[in-house]
Amino acid sequence: GPADPELRAALQRRMRSFGSSSVLFYQEPIRMVRAEGVWMIDADGRRYLDVYNNVPSVGHSHPAVVAAISRQAAQLNTHTRYLNDVVDSYAERLLATFPEPISQLVLTCTGSEANDLALRIAGAATGGCGFVVTESAYHGNTTAVSDVSPSSWPGRQPPAHVRVVPAPESFRDPGDDIGARFARSIEQAIADLQRAGIGFAGLLVDTIFSSDGVYADPPGFLAAAVDVVHAHGGLFIADEVQPGFGRTGTAFWGFARHGVEPDIVTMGKPMGNGFPMGGVATRPELIDRFTAATKYFNTFGGNPVAAAAGLAVLDVIRDEGLMDNASRVGGYLMDGLREIGNRHIQIGDVRGSGLFIGLELVRDRETKTPAPEIATAVINGLREHGILIGAAGPFGSTLKIRPPLCFTRDHADIVVSACDAVLKALPAD
Ligand code: PMP
Repeated sequence: GPADPELRAALQRRMRSFGSSSVLFYQEPIRMVRAEGVWMIDADGRRYLDVYNNVPSVGHSHPAVVAAISRQAAQLNTHTRYLNDVVDSYAERLLATFPEPISQLVLTCTGSEANDLALRIAGAATGGCGFVVTESAYHGNTTAVSDVSPSSWPGRQPPAHVRVVPAPESFRDPGDDIGARFARSIEQAIADLQRAGIGFAGLLVDTIFSSDGVYADPPGFLAAAVDVVHAHGGLFIADEVQPGFGRTGTAFWGFARHGVEPDIVTMGKPMGNGFPMGGVATRPELIDRFTAATKYFNTFGGNPVAAAAGLAVLDVIRDEGLMDNASRVGGYLMDGLREIGNRHIQIGDVRGSGLFIGLELVRDRETKTPAPEIATAVINGLREHGILIGAAGPFGSTLKIRPPLCFTRDHADIVVSACDAVLKALPAD
């Protein structure tokens, strides 16, 4: 355990109540006390630059969001069975961000609930229960959603109604046409479901493939996959929990990068900037088919306080030009990381879109051997430099760079020079 007696006591206290269900970052976990903008502050007053947390997307403790939440909490906070203007204003503003056919909404409290509901809507619409997902996907924690989250059962066989396809990965398997390859593997998975007598309900993917290792390029690669899904009578569910709300810079939603129109969109994390919110947006007839078959009610989903938080988030994204900022600062950060890549053979790849960047660490660039141990060393090294970051991907060798969208070039410079210093200090470099 940690040497510092105060930290040791805090950790013991945590474990006493939560035991092995408590998941903490770092050997020496951080006692976090507060945060503002892109900075987080621990119990000793140490400041950390946050390049990890995509939930406080418009900035930690953003004053406009905090004010909206507290104003509404002081006025009305109730379940969702009354008419209320804030709730309807929010729904209209959110729905305006989608392509026209997607015109209705169910609000939830988490991304897991949203995906759970999406599976049920797709099941009701198609009469099938078979889903196709990518190899290292994570879509949430309910029983049904765990079944479609291969990263929750590494090394195990998928449940009977689930087929797993390789991610559309462009680093180790660049090939000629990533979109065609991805579509082919989905077609095979659908055929396999059908051979087993399982009706195909849909394809569920995170449109930036975050837990698969962050794959955004080439733009448009999802189009062929969506065509295959529709040709076989299934629905395309876009999980926008990670890329949504402007993070990818070029578009408000990750699916838009690929020029495709989902049948169902699920969202969460950044929606309330930390206030628990999720949702499903889809076509009215799909909601009708579901509600005709099932009584559905959500006590907290889309309550007035959540709606006020959500509205404030949409306002801030627009008023502060955060999408555009994500494009510009994200591009600048990727350039900086690629530039130090010239000096460090461990940087295998820098990829992504806007402020959603994957930094792939390898033993060397020729063999592309994944280097999770280097990723861990960099994560810990950056912590010493006061920077918070985490890893993803099937090998845990991809650093996920997803800072609050108010990140500036100065912040990007801090990250690039700290990465340079940490890689330089590694024994193998
Ligand atoms: N989908 C994706 C792509 C996610 O990354 C997550 C959370 N990591 C979820 C769904 C589940 O969201 P929540 O934790 O809010 O239930």
